[in-house]
Amino acid sequence: MSKVRSFASAVLCLAMMACSGDADAQATWYEPAPLLASVRPEAQQTAEHVLGDLSALPLYDLHLDLADDLASFELHEDVYYTNTEGAPLRDIVLRVYANHGEEHPAVTLAEASCEGQPCVVGWQPSGALTLTPRTPLEAGARLLVHVHLRGTLKEIAAQRTNILAQAMEGMGRMQDAARAGDYGLLAHGDAMASLTRFYAVLARRHGGQWVGDEQSGLGDVAPDRLCHVRALITTAPGIVVAASGLVAQERTTIVHGQPRRHEVSVVAGLVRDFAVLASPHFEVATQQAGEVEVRSVFVHDDAEAGHRVLDAGAHAFHTFETRFGPYPYRQLDLVEAPLVGGAGGVEFSGLVTVASMFYRPITGGADAGGANAGGTDLGSVAGLLGGAGLGGFGQMMIEPMLEFVTAHEVSHQWWSGVVGSDSRANPFVDESLAQYSAVLAVEDRYGAERAAQEMARQVAQNYQIMRMNGQPDGKVDRPAHAFPSELAYAGLVYGKGPFFYREARRVMGDEAFFAALRSYATLNAFRVTTPTELRAAFARGPHARQVRRLFARYFEQNHGDEDLGQGDQGSMLGQWLGADGGDVSSLLQRLLGPGGLGGLGNLGQGGAGQGGAANDAQDAQAMAAALREAVQALQDLGGTSTTATPSVP
Ligand SMILES: [Zn+2]
Repeated sequence: MSKVRSFASAVLCLAMMACSGDADAQATWYEPAPLLASVRPEAQQTAEHVLGDLSALPLYDLHLDLADDLASFELHEDVYYTNTEGAPLRDIVLRVYANHGEEHPAVTLAEASCEGQPCVVGWQPSGALTLTPRTPLEAGARLLVHVHLRGTLKEIAAQRTNILAQAMEGMGRMQDAARAGDYGLLAHGDAMASLTRFYAVLARRHGGQWVGDEQSGLGDVAPDRLCHVRALITTAPGIVVAASGLVAQERTTIVHGQPRRHEVSVVAGLVRDFAVLASPHFEVATQQAGEVEVRSVFVHDDAEAGHRVLDAGAHAFHTFETRFGPYPYRQLDLVEAPLVGGAGGVEFSGLVTVASMFYRPITGGADAGGANAGGTDLGSVAGLLGGAGLGGFGQMMIEPMLEFVTAHEVSHQWWSGVVGSDSRANPFVDESLAQYSAVLAVEDRYGAERAAQEMARQVAQNYQIMRMNGQPDGKVDRPAHAFPSELAYAGLVYGKGPFFYREARRVMGDEAFFAALRSYATLNAFRVTTPTELRAAFARGPHARQVRRLFARYFEQNHGDEDLGQGDQGSMLGQWLGADGGDVSSLLQRLLGPGGLGGLGNLGQGGAGQGGAANDAQDAQAMAAALREAVQALQDLGGTSTTATPSVP
């Protein structure tokens, strides 16, 4: 522990009048009970039953200081680690996932040490921190590690959230796996700061080894091990903070009559990940869902969409609690975030982010329909339409996308949250199910017809656009790094995979299907599942063989063209715009063809920096000019469809 930290802690202790016993904290282990304040009693019991001693889970104790300009942070972190591997460990590897794949790593190591014994410290700029104690850590032994990190939040330039630039950036990245992964997870823009994957977490274990690096940035590069997080977040006064877990205390220090620093202390027990969003312009709207408070957090100017997110999120939440089983925490935050590069939303424990582009449908854009990496192409079309002055059309696409993305992300509280899975080895386990869960939320709210519509346009189209771009059908069940591009990842995991659930439900009948889904959630709560367990949950009873065949058909074999169809450009756009497919076909040909979006492979290359943003913006302008003619054709065509609200059965 550095001296700065000790001094700061002492001051805070005095200030918060809560330091009794803290002086001994380093010498003793942590108490899980106070951390579980964020967890509902039922879930605490389940966790104790499944995991036994909850003090054997890692605790990340974070003292985070966010700079006033939201552009950098200082982090003092204590990692409480118990060796649960059943064998001695020579070293412990921590990862700062935000650094993965970055040319200029955002987070740097200032210092690291082990409590009470010397440790050799190794640091890779890719974010891998190796600590080697003098003697191996015996099975069951505990180690307290102090880490001091400094980080910068990448600036998301205003041009980058420009509707056209963002739509094209996503489009340009889709063809190329090497450019995937920059979603603005550790970034600031539009007076919002997003701090996710910014702290050191225990690396994955695979085959008895620590996994110190990733082969690809596709999909979620995130931890999936259960842990506890305790955080003291310090910001400028007037900053509103949204974080995973529950706020235990919040106060502003006053010095000489002036507000000086704002402090928020948070506990997040039994989580897999922890996110912090902050903005001076955040507002909060809430809805009670039984024991759980659902909160929508958005910047002031985006209040209208913020309330729509709350509405959609609360409805989806109700569907999922009814269908899958209880949500484990007391609070769920749905937070606007300056996401870029094809992310429509991202899931964390107790908190999901939704891209701010969705909050600004007329002057802003839309990017991913299927969330995370999925459906970027659909959002791009919406973005182009909106950016070219066809706000009515853009709106018709964006509102259902906003609702679908919100539901998708909320469902991750069960799929990857309660029921963990390896997002690197088998990303389809949670993602395909999250897509189908979003369809279920639509079905419960609007009925089967609208659900079928979303299955066609927000799920199947991911696959069809992949096929139209000349990429082959393939296995859904493969590691993230084995997908050749974001387009293939979206097409297979977000497009084809979800159809397994529709077909299994058809074969099994609603009662058996929903019972299987619920028991999958219940039996695997607080564990990490594999495809084998997923299949076993559905392949039971009289239809077991048929379901196993479906599982192979949708996740392992190549029947996508037969099952989903290759898609027809005109009818695909028609599914969104309600316009005649034949009439829009030639237009879409031009939008997606070599002279339009399909020719954008060179865009977004510099997306990681401001230069790239400027280039994107320039290219966007050129693109807009080139498309003006085509857009005019659509405008003429759309005389009957320019209403700002989608038809909702
Ligand atoms: Zn997802």
